[in-house]
Amino acid sequence: MDQNIAFNHLKVFADIGTRIAGTEPTKRAADYIEKAFSHVGLETNRHHFDIPMYSLKKPSTLQVKINGKWQGLVHKAAWFAGDTPLDGVEAPLVYAQDGSEAVLKRIEPEGKVLLIARDSYYNYPDDDIYRRLVKYKPAAVLFTTSAGWGGSEPPDVYYNFKTVDTEGEAPPTAVVLYSDALELLEHNHDILVQYNAQYNRSEGACANVIGTLAGTDSTGEAIVICAHFDSVPGGPGIGDDAGGIVTMMTLAEHYANLARKGIRQKRTMHFIAWSGHEVGLHGSREFLRDNPDIFNNTKFVLNYDIVGNRISTNTLMVSASHQVTQEITEVCESLGYDWQIDAGVWGLDTTNFCSKEIPGVNLVQTLTNWNHTTRDNIKSCHPDSFIDPIIFGKGLLDWVANAESIQQGYPEDMNEVARSYSEKYGWGLYQEINV
Ligand SMILES: [Zn+2]
Repeated sequence: MDQNIAFNHLKVFADIGTRIAGTEPTKRAADYIEKAFSHVGLETNRHHFDIPMYSLKKPSTLQVKINGKWQGLVHKAAWFAGDTPLDGVEAPLVYAQDGSEAVLKRIEPEGKVLLIARDSYYNYPDDDIYRRLVKYKPAAVLFTTSAGWGGSEPPDVYYNFKTVDTEGEAPPTAVVLYSDALELLEHNHDILVQYNAQYNRSEGACANVIGTLAGTDSTGEAIVICAHFDSVPGGPGIGDDAGGIVTMMTLAEHYANLARKGIRQKRTMHFIAWSGHEVGLHGSREFLRDNPDIFNNTKFVLNYDIVGNRISTNTLMVSASHQVTQEITEVCESLGYDWQIDAGVWGLDTTNFCSKEIPGVNLVQTLTNWNHTTRDNIKSCHPDSFIDPIIFGKGLLDWVANAESIQQGYPEDMNEVARSYSEKYGWGLYQEINV
């Protein structure tokens, strides 16, 4: 049973634990994936690249003084944000709403700690807001989670420190829970905040793992089936995205078995496990940059990101022409899936393929929004959750691997959405390609 193949792989990732790109557990995960690929008969490769790494020099501390009494606040220091001085910053709290220019002008943020409303998991700190914030010289920034955030701790988030171009250093930044933020605002007198966080920043070596199944077609056209195997520091990354990896590995095994029986697909299939995803989609970006042949020949991308949680619903995030989107809808209908199909991009590895307007679809199993916390563990997953992602994958791949042609290119409005998203977060290849 396919779902058991997937779940048995998943247990191995659960044993390996947290897989921060560039660290030893990530190498073990890469070895496991490569071995499994070659065991079923795929041609395997590794693509090596360096990524930015961070760690806190010591655990960060965040305290607020209310009614003359200091109390600690549950928080997560944002990765790569600016350091506080060694003895921390101490400054009054001011609510900056959504951090818009109009609000910032009104509240005189200089030297204060700004509290900014944000769904920090879905809307990471981004370049646009930091370009604005830096001008106003706040002492520190606290982002909130959404009210519906399912974790008892805030998610790991990062500021894309590597790509941003601000004048001046990014302010120290942490994420606090919505409920705590609400409580702070209910005290309508002065609140003093004390925050302390310093980081080690370095470069680390990591690698993507590629398993290839040659197609019968000699034109070199290919499709990419992918997921990411690195995880955030604050959780084991089982649904996000070991679940995607094991779905992809199960599909790789299926098509390799068919090939062994003489049933070959027309287009070459590259099954790719990305690393360096969590720090800014680096794995897919570096791979496409270093492999222009594959980039130019890829006609379709199927990406799995967040799969396997027992209680979840399915959303397809599609970047493609109207015609291809329609064809994906028809695949769903023929399989009996009434899945939500959204057009656009998220912080998903297909974003790097968007700069060449390559058709792509991401399957994201939503509903559980505790990704990037300790709760994203194997207890919340179940073999049966893999049945439909695998059936969908086969249905879609049978089509895209063999279709006479797949319409390339995006509608202009989708291009615009993808381009501005890419610019906002500093993700994707738009800055280098298609300019
Ligand atoms: Zn993910």
